[in-house]
Amino acid sequence: SAIFNLKDAGKDQVQEFLNSFDTVLSDCDGVLWIDNNAIPGSADTMNYLRKIGKQIFFVTNNSTKIRKDFAIKAQQLGFIANEDEILSTSYLVAHYLKSIGFKKKVYLIGSNGIGDELKAVGIRHVGIGPDHVKPDFKSMKSTDLDPEVGAVVVGFDEHISYPKFMKAASYLASDECIFLATNTDERFPKSSSIIVPGTGTLVRAVETCSERKALVLGKPNEYVRKFLESKGLDPARTLMIGDRCNTDIEFGVRCGFQTLLVLTGVTSTKGVEKIRKEKIAPLPDVILPKLGDLLTLVES
Ligand code: PLP
Ligand code: CA
Repeated sequence: SAIFNLKDAGKDQVQEFLNSFDTVLSDCDGVLWIDNNAIPGSADTMNYLRKIGKQIFFVTNNSTKIRKDFAIKAQQLGFIANEDEILSTSYLVAHYLKSIGFKKKVYLIGSNGIGDELKAVGIRHVGIGPDHVKPDFKSMKSTDLDPEVGAVVVGFDEHISYPKFMKAASYLASDECIFLATNTDERFPKSSSIIVPGTGTLVRAVETCSERKALVLGKPNEYVRKFLESKGLDPARTLMIGDRCNTDIEFGVRCGFQTLLVLTGVTSTKGVEKIRKEKIAPLPDVILPKLGDLLTLVES
């Protein structure tokens, strides 16, 4: 199956492509921005898609902020964005636990982004804050565990520690304890030669010591689709835009969406060739060097 490079398309084909979807789901980091810098052309393109009537959602595996703060960040970078269009893994965790009527406490390996989304739906949590590494692993006892904990959630946590792994695994020793993870990204997209381990690193560690598998809510898991179907989304007329084949494009394919890969993030042209050869992830339907090229094509 050939990937359609939209850059080579004629005006009619570009219009045909635009007419083929009503809903746009876009990944954030690597498509719209990188860290705190907007990717040139992305905001104008997203705002144009909104102007011509497309329903927009921002789907990010990032769990470190609440939806409102993601919306503020998007607005500051030039995107029209509303809080209820943000589908961050911090929000999905809270939404999931609320939807199953969870009443106990969460043991959280993560950040305030998840903690505040949990608070917003009335779910209590422990594990983050100043005592996050206490007690020392040599002195940990069963009385250091909170008997009210009924779920372990693993998201990005820059204060990850050995005592946290001990607590998480100890809670998860009970079969009734729910085990959720935000995402399994291996690394953060970074331009320097320093490798920054992603949340998948922490999830795999907790899975190993608990001898259990987490329910992962972020891409490529289909939880977002189930969530959006309740809002009337038609998969056949939905476009997923992403920068990673093994999360964004895999997610789009699993959900029956059309997929567009841009090359401003994790997956490079070389990466696409490797994926094609080694079949380690699905390939997108359509490709563009950057999202802003779409608006350039419309206006040319
Ligand atoms: N998780 C964290 C903690 C991040 O900081 C990021 C990107 O900045 C991601 C995940 C990936 O986010 P996205 O799905 O928008 O690419
Ligand atoms: Ca991304």
